[in-house]
Amino acid sequence: MFADSKIEVVQKVSSEFIYDEASNMCTRPTWVEISRSRLLDNYRYLRELAGDSADMLAVVKANAYGHGLAQCAPILANAGAAWLGITSVEEGVEVRSYCPPSTRVLVLSGPWQGEGDALLEHDLTPVVWEPFHLDELEAAAAKRGLEPQSLAVHLEIDTGMARQGVPAPFDRDDSCELRNLLARFHPGSPLRLEGVMTHFSAADELDSASFQRQFSRLAHSLECVAAGGLTFQWLHAGASATLLAGKDLPPMREMAKKHGARLMFRPGLALYGDAPRFAPQGTPADESAAILKPVLAWKTRVISTRVIPQGETVSYNATFRAERATKLALLDAGYADGLDRRLSNRFALLVRGEFAPIAGRVCMDQCMLDVTDIPGVASGDEVVILGEQGTHTIDAYMHADCTGTIPWEVLTDIGHRVHRRLVD
Ligand SMILES: *Cc1c(COP(=O)(O)O)cnc(C)c1O
Repeated sequence: MFADSKIEVVQKVSSEFIYDEASNMCTRPTWVEISRSRLLDNYRYLRELAGDSADMLAVVKANAYGHGLAQCAPILANAGAAWLGITSVEEGVEVRSYCPPSTRVLVLSGPWQGEGDALLEHDLTPVVWEPFHLDELEAAAAKRGLEPQSLAVHLEIDTGMARQGVPAPFDRDDSCELRNLLARFHPGSPLRLEGVMTHFSAADELDSASFQRQFSRLAHSLECVAAGGLTFQWLHAGASATLLAGKDLPPMREMAKKHGARLMFRPGLALYGDAPRFAPQGTPADESAAILKPVLAWKTRVISTRVIPQGETVSYNATFRAERATKLALLDAGYADGLDRRLSNRFALLVRGEFAPIAGRVCMDQCMLDVTDIPGVASGDEVVILGEQGTHTIDAYMHADCTGTIPWEVLTDIGHRVHRRLVD
């Protein structure tokens, strides 16, 4: 119902052609397929883990983890996610144009100077922790003559990430910064404390003491909030790892209840079907993660083939030398598409249901596969970079392990010029 015209274009695309959303032209054969049904299944599963007493903030920052904001944000909003989370005003404006007006949008990264007007104009809710955040918002509210308490904000408490948020009091006497910030939510202020949040730093380490430390700092902070006579509607913390692991949910529910707030979780990666690697392995957290289904498949095509004689070299700086007559398949995908150059000579992609090694260095826009052992490879063959083909799968961890990173980075590195299409 709220689908943007861009999405309709994506849905109308025939499987044979790639659409350029801006110009409606066919373009290079490198694309991403997004499974609506898998995204919905993952969302519903996480929703179930969260329980009825909690709300969901679906994290769609970084172009929905590379899956396409235009494709994913409306699906998650229409599935019932009360909130969507992004990390820039620009993304917020985009989300607004795709989603029902009732969808709340949280800008997780804090307002920068000059962004107050745009936040208000597009009904984006900011996360705040610096005094200048409040100055900026108060000034924007004054310009619009906003009523007291009409501009909702969420206050982030730093309980141990040391990234953003007002430092949690380490003990009850040490809460100056927090107290000063809370004092600014007086009855005459245009600002209303609607949410209090924190971010856990090691929810994937199941036997670590860090949750307990962060949790008790959060508890102290909430006592300060209560002592300041303030209430708030949402308490939110916990990303994919916390939800899948499950063990910390009961104390979090208790904490929200104690403060008369609704609990909210903020999953990102798990919505898209990948999960953190839990340590130790083999706990119920792993079983929970195994239920998720990857939403994204990244594909390209063979655009040309050639056979080179023994002794010839392939790609820049001759890092691949043919030990026999070698058949190469050229692909329209390179590091500018997010195909990491460190995969050169160390990774294989799927063609005709078989793994074909990358031969030589990945180039900016192209790469070559050694397809000597796969009969019949020809121009037009579909190649899977990430996803399933035949009986084989290439998952985000295979990419991440090869290049020394994590699935979050593999997915968000997929270039903007790679077209995202909804396939079901
Ligand atoms: C990115 C992010 C999340 C989501 O994390 P995942 O591990 O991808 O689930 C949640 N909360 C905040 C504040 C974030 O920055």
